[in-house]
Amino acid sequence: MADKLQLKSYAKINLLLDVLGKYENDYHQVEMIMQTIDLYDKLFFTKIDSGINIECKHPGVPSGEKNLIYQAASLLRDEFAVESGLKVKVEKNIPVAAGLAGGSSNAAATLVAVNKLWGLGLNTSELEKRGAELGSDIPFCLAGGTQLATGTGTELEKLELDPKLDLVVVNPPFEVSTAEIYKNLNLAEINCHPQVEKLMMALKRDDYRDILSNLENLLELVAINRYPKIEEIKKIVAAETDRVLMSGSGPTILGFVNSKSKAQEAAASLKQKLDTNYKIVSATTVNTGVELF
Ligand code: ATP
Repeated sequence: MADKLQLKSYAKINLLLDVLGKYENDYHQVEMIMQTIDLYDKLFFTKIDSGINIECKHPGVPSGEKNLIYQAASLLRDEFAVESGLKVKVEKNIPVAAGLAGGSSNAAATLVAVNKLWGLGLNTSELEKRGAELGSDIPFCLAGGTQLATGTGTELEKLELDPKLDLVVVNPPFEVSTAEIYKNLNLAEINCHPQVEKLMMALKRDDYRDILSNLENLLELVAINRYPKIEEIKKIVAAETDRVLMSGSGPTILGFVNSKSKAQEAAASLKQKLDTNYKIVSATTVNTGVELF
């Protein structure tokens, strides 16, 4: 059995994010169209004798038990009484705490890696179930592509759509806590929700203008209320692109355009306009999740 595995873990954006209510356990009932983009971390896994060691140079990424990689590996190690250990080297390209599911996608890759390296023989839905125990975005990150997520975000339907959308990803130099944004969301005040059916129809027809006008994120207003800077960034990105949207619970802003070259031009221009500590990259949607490289 191989003792090394190299996997890519892709960033996620929400083409649509709606919150419909709250369950008794305080989890929110959501409806989202999630999408992977070609921005990814590289993870180098090695089977070792014992322990779970994580090496990542990014200062915002914890190295021990707080790391989602650690949590994913230890969940399966404990459940299956695995005696071997794991070493993981992470090459971080996905901005941290950015609403791009970087930690979740690393955890998804870890589930795939230890399943192989430790010979656990779990299938995808068994991995999804373990992923959901750790974080609601993890099941999506396993297969990626375009998926409709409902319930707490872990009930998934893979949409056979494969949209080709080009965008610029603008990550400002401050973090937003997902929990804080949800805490400040008052559903009673909201009378206009994103239209998931309309977006799915537009995606099916591959109608660029219609897709853009149905990209919506219910959390955007809450995030802007707490962090007015997000509105300023939105305006700057809007001047360079056809449609702006906040990703997940923020603060990353996405600007959509209709070609790869326009996305690259927008990224170059925004780098001139915004501070050097903003992370700005052009990206394209992809139809893939965790994969070998
Ligand atoms: P989501 O969109 O799923 O809410 P996010 O993109 O907003 O996620 P992450 O990049 O996953 O946020 O980081 C959230 C927190 O998780 C960070 O503050 C970081 O300390 C912690 N974390 C734990 N493990 C990881 C990991 N492997 N990579 C990045 N962050 C991690």
